[in-house]
Amino acid sequence: MLLHQFHSRFPTEDACIEYFKAVRMQQGVSCPECKTITHKWLGGRKVFQCPQCGCLIPLTKGTVMEHSKLSLSSWFYTMHLMTSVKQVLSAKEVQPQLGASQYPPIWLMMMKLRNIMGKRDAIYELSGEVELDEAFFPIRVPEEAQGETIRRGAGSQRQAKVLVIVESKSADEVLLSYLKSQDKGDKAGKFASMMKGKSIKKVVHYIKMFVLDNLNANTIDKIVREYVAKDAVVITDNSSSHVNLSEYFSKHESFTEKGNVDEVVKSVLPWVHIVIGRCRDGIAAIHGDVDAQFLQLYLNEYCWKFNRRFFRDSSDPKYDLFDRLVKISALYTSDIKWRNYEQIDDEDVI
Ligand SMILES: [Zn+2]
Repeated sequence: MLLHQFHSRFPTEDACIEYFKAVRMQQGVSCPECKTITHKWLGGRKVFQCPQCGCLIPLTKGTVMEHSKLSLSSWFYTMHLMTSVKQVLSAKEVQPQLGASQYPPIWLMMMKLRNIMGKRDAIYELSGEVELDEAFFPIRVPEEAQGETIRRGAGSQRQAKVLVIVESKSADEVLLSYLKSQDKGDKAGKFASMMKGKSIKKVVHYIKMFVLDNLNANTIDKIVREYVAKDAVVITDNSSSHVNLSEYFSKHESFTEKGNVDEVVKSVLPWVHIVIGRCRDGIAAIHGDVDAQFLQLYLNEYCWKFNRRFFRDSSDPKYDLFDRLVKISALYTSDIKWRNYEQIDDEDVI
C-alpha cells in the first residue's frame, strides 16, 4: 500500500478503530466468559458486549495489541511501514516516524509483530522440491562469553547457527497460485504463454528459517519433520547434520560440497544460498550484530514478508500485505517482554 493510500484509508484513530472492529467481527469475537461468539458493539465505549452474559470485551482483547497503551493508529502506521519494505526495519527508525518519545514501547510493538508473523508461518509446511542448508548469522558476543577468547569458524561466539529451508517450484506454478489467490485464475494461460522460452524455470516459493542451538542431526531432523511434507524432495549438501533425513523422506538427494563448493552451490542449492545472503546482509546492514535471543524474531519478519512478497504492492486492500498483517494481529497474542526482562511488566512499558 502506498503512503497516500494509507493516509486516505486511516486519517484518524477512529478510522483505525472502525477497521479493526470490522476485522474482528469478521473473524468472530469470542466471549472469554461464556464463549459466545458475539457481534454486539458499544460504540461509545469502543468495546464488544456479549449478548448472553453481558461481559465487556475490549477491542484489542485476545489480539497482539492486548495491554498496549499505544494508539491503534501507531500500530497501524508501524504495520504499514513494516510491510512497505523488504528489509527488517529497526525500531530506532520507526520511533521518530511515530513521534514517540520513548524507544521501549516501539521496540516491543515491533517484536510482538515479528512474534506473531512466526506463529502464522508455523502453520504452513513446505513441499515439492526443498533445499536445505545451515548458515551462520553475525550476533553480538553474549554477555557470558565476553572476556573469552573469540573462536573462529563454526563454533564462534560471534555467530548464530540458522537452518534455512527453501521450497522451489516451477515459475508457472508460482504464477498460477498467485493469480488464483487474486481471483485472476482465468489469466493463467496468458501469463504461462508469456513465460514460454524464458530462462527462469524454477523460482523460490516459500522459505523458513530457524535459529539452532547446535548442528546435531537430531536437532535438524526434528524441525524438518515438523515443517516439511513427507513426500517432499529434500536436497542438501552431504554434511553429517543431514544423516537422519534419508530415513524419513523418500526422496533425499545429498551432494558433497567438498572440492568444488561453488559448483554445488550454483547447480544444486542455488536458492537457499541466495536467500541466506540477502537475509543476512539485510539484517546486518540495518541492525548490526543482533542479540542472539532476538535473531529468530528478525528472521520471522524476513520470512513472513518474503513468503508474501507478491502482495506488497497489491492495489486491492483485500490482498494487501498490510491488511494481511492486521488480520493476523487480530488472531494471535504475543508474550514477548521488553528485552525479555521478566521483572518488568509489559504494561509499564508499552
Ligand atoms: Zn458471555
